[in-house]
Amino acid sequence: MGADHEDSDQRFFHVPCLHCGDMAPITWARIRWPEGRRDEAHLVCEACGGIHHEHDKPRLLAGGEWRATARGDGRTAGFHLSALYSPWETWAEIATEHGRIRKDPARLQVWVNTKLGESWEDQAGDTVPADPLMARREDWGDALPASVAVLTAGVDVQGDRIEVQILGWGRDEEVWVIDYRVLWGDPSGPRLWSDLDMVLQTTFPHPAGIELPVRAAAIDTGGHHTKMAYEFCRTRLARRIWAIKGRGGPGIPVWPRRPTRRNKGKIPLFIVGVDAVKDAVYARLRLTEPGPGAIHFPRRLDAEYFRQLTAERVVTRFTRGRPVRSWQPKRDGERNEALDTFVYAHAALHGLISMGLRLNEEVEGMASVSARQDSETARVIRSDWMR
Ligand SMILES: [Zn+2]
Repeated sequence: MGADHEDSDQRFFHVPCLHCGDMAPITWARIRWPEGRRDEAHLVCEACGGIHHEHDKPRLLAGGEWRATARGDGRTAGFHLSALYSPWETWAEIATEHGRIRKDPARLQVWVNTKLGESWEDQAGDTVPADPLMARREDWGDALPASVAVLTAGVDVQGDRIEVQILGWGRDEEVWVIDYRVLWGDPSGPRLWSDLDMVLQTTFPHPAGIELPVRAAAIDTGGHHTKMAYEFCRTRLARRIWAIKGRGGPGIPVWPRRPTRRNKGKIPLFIVGVDAVKDAVYARLRLTEPGPGAIHFPRRLDAEYFRQLTAERVVTRFTRGRPVRSWQPKRDGERNEALDTFVYAHAALHGLISMGLRLNEEVEGMASVSARQDSETARVIRSDWMR
C-alpha cells in the first residue's frame, strides 16, 4: 500500500495468456463477468480476448515471472501484487465483494487499498508511525460524540489482566475510541470476569439524551484462560458477547458466515480473519481527514496506546517467486493489546452487520432522536480511564 515510490523499478508479476502466450499482470481491468453475474468473474487477455477461469489460476501463476515496468533509481526493487493473485481468494469472491461495497466510499477505499493497491519496497513492510496519530488526539468531552450510533467492544485476555477497548461507530464506519480499560486480576478466578461483565454493561451518555449500551463484544479465546473465556461467553450469547479466535493468513473473512462448535467448550466460536481487519485498520489509520473510515482518538490515550496500536507491520516473503504476506510485530515481544482489542471491536461490528445491522440507518435514527430532544443536557458519567 502507500505511494508508488518513483525510485523503485515497479515490478509486477506477469502471467502468460494460456491462449496466445502474451505476458501481462493480472489487473482489475482484466477481470470481467457477464452482466449481473459477478460469481462468474474471469480473466480476459487484452491481446487475444481469450478467457481464463479460476481453475486456470495455478497454471497462470506457475508460468509467471516478475518484470520491472520502470527504470527507477537502479537500486530499489518495488514489488506490486494484489489479491487477484491469491490462491485463497477467487476472482468471483473479489468481484462479488466489490459489487457489495462499491457505492460506499469508505469501504471502497479500503477495498482498493487492500485488494488492488498493494505494493512493497524491498520487503521492508508497511508500517504506520505512532507519533502523528498521537498528535491527532481530540477533545470531545465526557459524552459520546454526536455522530456515534453503535458501540462495540474488543476484549483480550492476558495472564494477569483483561484489556477492553470500546469503539463508537458512525456513518460509513467513521470510528471514535470511546474507552480503554485494563482490568488487573487473575483470569482463572470469577472475580476478574465479573469486573469484565460490569464494564460490558456500562452505558454511555449520548448527546441525544439517551444511554448507549455496548451492542456486541468479541472476546479472544485463543490466548490465556480459554476455558474461562468460553464459560463467560456461553451464558451471554443473547447479549452478543461472542467468543472469537483470531486467525492470520490470507483469504479469511473478517467475520465468518457461521460459528464453529468444534472446540472444548462446544460453544459457538467465531473465527476472525485478523489480517483482513488489520489491512482495513492500517489503511484507515492513514486517513488524516474526518469522514468515512476515519479513526478518532481522545486526548486521554497515552503514548503506550499508540505504540501498541502501531506495533505491527506487513511482511512479505517470497516463496518460489510468489509473495506470501503476513502481519508481524515490528519488534519481538512488543505488546500489542491496543491493536488486538481494536481489531476485535472492529470484528464485532462486522458480526452485528452479518446479523442485519445497517450502520448508516442507525446513525440516521440517532439523529432523529436528537432532533426530538429539547436542549436538555445529557447526564454526564465520567468513565474510568485507566491510562
Ligand atoms: Zn491471449
